[in-house]
Amino acid sequence: MIRGSTQLVAIIGRPIAQVKSPENFNAWFASNDQDLAMIAVDMAEKNLPAFIDALRGWNNLRGCVVTVPYKQVLAGQLDALSPRAAALCSVNVIRRGADGRLLGDNVDGEGFLKATRAHGFQPAGQRALVVGSGGVGAAIAYALCEGGVRQLVIADLDKPRAEALADLLRSAFPQLEIGNRYPSLENFDLVVNATPVGMGGTGEMPLPGLLLETLSPGALVADVVTNPVVTPFLEFARDLGCRIQTGPEMARAQMGNLGAHMGVMPLDA
Ligand code: NAD
Repeated sequence: MIRGSTQLVAIIGRPIAQVKSPENFNAWFASNDQDLAMIAVDMAEKNLPAFIDALRGWNNLRGCVVTVPYKQVLAGQLDALSPRAAALCSVNVIRRGADGRLLGDNVDGEGFLKATRAHGFQPAGQRALVVGSGGVGAAIAYALCEGGVRQLVIADLDKPRAEALADLLRSAFPQLEIGNRYPSLENFDLVVNATPVGMGGTGEMPLPGLLLETLSPGALVADVVTNPVVTPFLEFARDLGCRIQTGPEMARAQMGNLGAHMGVMPLDA
């Protein structure tokens, strides 16, 4: 029930009907007796500056989750950014301070790492391959570097995009080995699909079959794709004996980080 006293949070994107956050947040608010609610906002890009200005004056709104396609464009319209959101030029959550100032952060990578910890993975000293250097791949790669991986390899069909991310990470984390070559997968402790490949049951794989045969059964293999839950890539890895992590696991793990940034939930919710 939304009452006059209810504090709001929002999620903005376009389209928005497919997002799961409103169900997840509202279920958590209800089961924890919180007078809070999440609303979903489908907004045209040309109206974003007016929306952002309205957020500054919206006294009963605590924050806003940001989803595709507005993570990058909104990063340029806020009053302050966390260091990682500034480095990535991308936000997926905004906190509205009591003074109306809007602070953006990007917790995609932190949520991803939280999910991997549930599989017993600790990034320090590990070797990781991230396929996909777009919004989510960059956030995951940044979090892996913050977590102290020994070696990070970034792959993308768009080579200049992958190289630009590698350059950004090399200057932020000069002590780490960041590359783009992966003749075999056998030495990786973590292999992540951070591309949309496999979404919607197409049966496509993000890496060639011969290369996939070289996966180590000791590796954790993760996918960001949320539908299907177990992608063909994860199915293949599971059949080889690898531990697997699904896209919905990452999304669920992130909820506490999003809620904590907006000040409406504990980190471990
Ligand atoms: P994006 O378009 O910014 O980036 C995708 C990147 O993948 C591009 O750089 C593209 O060149 C690359 N790519 C595509 N096919 C490839 C291939 N076969 N090999 C190598 N690279 C390839 O997209 P994004 O915002 O990073 O989102 C990626 C996916 O992550 C989407 O499916 C999105 O729904 C999902 N996502 C999941 C979560 C979650 O919590 N599970 C969170 C955010 C995004």
